[in-house]
Amino acid sequence: MTAPIADVLIPLALDQAYSYAVPPELTLAEGDVVQVPLGPRETVGVVWSLRDGAGSNLRRVSGRIGVEALSPALRRLVEWIARYTLAPKGSALAMALRLPEESRTETARIGVRATGMPPSRMTPARAKVVAVAADGVVRGKRALSLEAGVSAGVVDGLIDDGVLETVALAPERVAEPPDPDHPHDALSEPQAEAARALIATLTAPPPGGGPAGEGGVTLLEGVTGSGKTEVYFEVVAEALRRGVQSLVLMPEIALTAQFLDRFAKRFGVRPAAWHSGVGGRRRERIRAGVASGEVQVVVGARSALFLPFRRLGLIVVDEEHEGAYKQDDGVCYHARDMAVVRGKLENAAVVLASATPAIETRVNAERGRYRRVVMPERFGGRRLPEIRAIDMRAEKVPRGRYLSPSLVSAIAETNARGEQALLFLNRRGYAPLTLCRACGHRYQCPNCSTWLVEHRFRRALVCHHCGHAERRPEACTECGTFDNLTACGPGVERIAEEVAATFPDKRVIVLSSDFPGGAERLRAELQTVAEGGCDIVVGTQLVAKGHNFPHLTLVGVLDADIGLTSGDPRAAERTFQLLQQVTGRAGRGEKPGRALVQTYQPEHPVIAALISGDAERFYSEETAAREVAGLPPFGRLAALVISCTDREAAEAHGRALARVAEPPPGVMVLGPAEAPLALVRGRYRFRLLVKTEREIDLQSYLRDWLARGPKVRGNLRVGIDVDPQSF
Ligand code: ADP
Ligand code: ZN
Repeated sequence: MTAPIADVLIPLALDQAYSYAVPPELTLAEGDVVQVPLGPRETVGVVWSLRDGAGSNLRRVSGRIGVEALSPALRRLVEWIARYTLAPKGSALAMALRLPEESRTETARIGVRATGMPPSRMTPARAKVVAVAADGVVRGKRALSLEAGVSAGVVDGLIDDGVLETVALAPERVAEPPDPDHPHDALSEPQAEAARALIATLTAPPPGGGPAGEGGVTLLEGVTGSGKTEVYFEVVAEALRRGVQSLVLMPEIALTAQFLDRFAKRFGVRPAAWHSGVGGRRRERIRAGVASGEVQVVVGARSALFLPFRRLGLIVVDEEHEGAYKQDDGVCYHARDMAVVRGKLENAAVVLASATPAIETRVNAERGRYRRVVMPERFGGRRLPEIRAIDMRAEKVPRGRYLSPSLVSAIAETNARGEQALLFLNRRGYAPLTLCRACGHRYQCPNCSTWLVEHRFRRALVCHHCGHAERRPEACTECGTFDNLTACGPGVERIAEEVAATFPDKRVIVLSSDFPGGAERLRAELQTVAEGGCDIVVGTQLVAKGHNFPHLTLVGVLDADIGLTSGDPRAAERTFQLLQQVTGRAGRGEKPGRALVQTYQPEHPVIAALISGDAERFYSEETAAREVAGLPPFGRLAALVISCTDREAAEAHGRALARVAEPPPGVMVLGPAEAPLALVRGRYRFRLLVKTEREIDLQSYLRDWLARGPKVRGNLRVGIDVDPQSF
């Protein structure tokens, strides 16, 4: 006898869907979210395919769950990511389901309430449910069973018994609809032209009739302060008029706060924000609102890519070059690249916005795979900051101090004019290394191969990789002598100390991601800076990007050489982007800005390009160097990171893998070597690098290779990172 069989993909690290029989009373469709038995318990899964077959020996699907089904496009995105990253399909699915939080408290449109009928029989479990339901309508059966602390079956039994009944609920509103025609500043002519070019790519037809665009990807490359945000707001406005949803991706939560205010100014209301800081219940409501189409614009971190949009018409990836878009544990995916994939699957237009695009993106634009819209001038005739190097070899800086006399006098002049200065150092904490002058002992993390960073604020030595923290000792833990511990090198806290000593009557704000008070405090501080309520800002990369500080006219980069010395081939690109971004904070308001860059190597190509303002030249040289080396985007790269608490086991596994690598022509396998961070959280790490020519199917090669490799045992893990960001 044949009956419907559902192949259900479960959001765990599994590649295969499991088959279940569909009970006759249940009608399922592909994409439905269901509850199924798995081993001794019940779990949530998604119907991946349906077929007929002899399913009599299979376990049965327990029921459908009241969350929106996964659309075909979203299921294809899951498949795509799993194939590309070599992650198990179930792990990719987990990102789209965002379990467990959501499944536990479903977004129910169906409420449950008591009918007033007494139960035919009473049990302790039933009594608990009846007591909870007596308080009124409960949103969802699962919510009710969870609140009562009983299994879902008890609630179902009471419904069958007529004690409870289900009622349809009006959806809760999560976000007021943005008004595309809310009064706002008019675009300048260059902005309007850029907006027109982007609007022309929207695939939804215009309301008054007329031709629709063909979608695809457009790079919006505009210098800092060119007004890119207002440009893509105009595209969002047009998407609203055409009745399609928009997703704006941001690399960091810190950027989102200011963005929400700007959005509200343009559209009258704030959009729905989606990131890890958004709590359980609100998450579900956004998810449901996105699925129903009620939520028209979402701004979010990379995970927003997996929301079940009903009719997605536009994806904007702001600051598309940002490394934060890469998730580098679990499923290692790049949100910018996946946004391009999702855009294609949804037939939505994709806009990648940046002042300093990734080399990959530039190359894609040059080769005609992406369109390119350029905004070479700042908005309103404002000038880009003048950038000058301070050659530290020629400056007299006392030991233990980091501000050059040239920078100090520039800060003083700036403040004297009533303007703000920003001092940038990409290093959190007080000092990156603590050393005992008597015995030479250096304080290292017990779990990781890194130095502990002194945080004077917290009076602790902290590991930035695993979070390990210990009190800064009074006496050296090694030799026991007092007063010999020395802070080596600067972090932002130390710079703030020097600034306070040098400018005792100035208002100083320190902005770093690990400052106490969290997102709210950060938001308030950023606001203070924006309103001109401080004279000097000292900050890490947190302040480098995206922010708009109208009173800021001087940017001082304290150590432009950090990052240039690492062996990573992307170091130059990354440093160039970061320095370009941070110097671009200067002079965005009415007054012109300038930037001073402290360096020991002013002739370095990155610094030279920054000073000359010749970004094109930097990009073309860097692109040429990548091409010669066969590095992305001209070749493909993947990293296998083998980690284990047992160092020898990790290394042995790496060697065994290398022995069966059998690279065909066009493929190179390097290693195993100790990973750049050889010990993290108590796990030793070895790395194999795979470099292939562009035409090679990297994923197939990796899959075949890993299948030949030794079995993964114990706590050993093989992490696969396709397109690693640092290598
Ligand atoms: P970008 O993102 O390209 O660095 P922004 O979008 O932040 O630039 O714009 C830079 C500055 O110019 C901001 O202060 C912004 O408010 C202002 N601005 C941009 N477009 C307009 C406009 N059309 N009218 C008035 N001010 C604008
Ligand atoms: Zn550590």
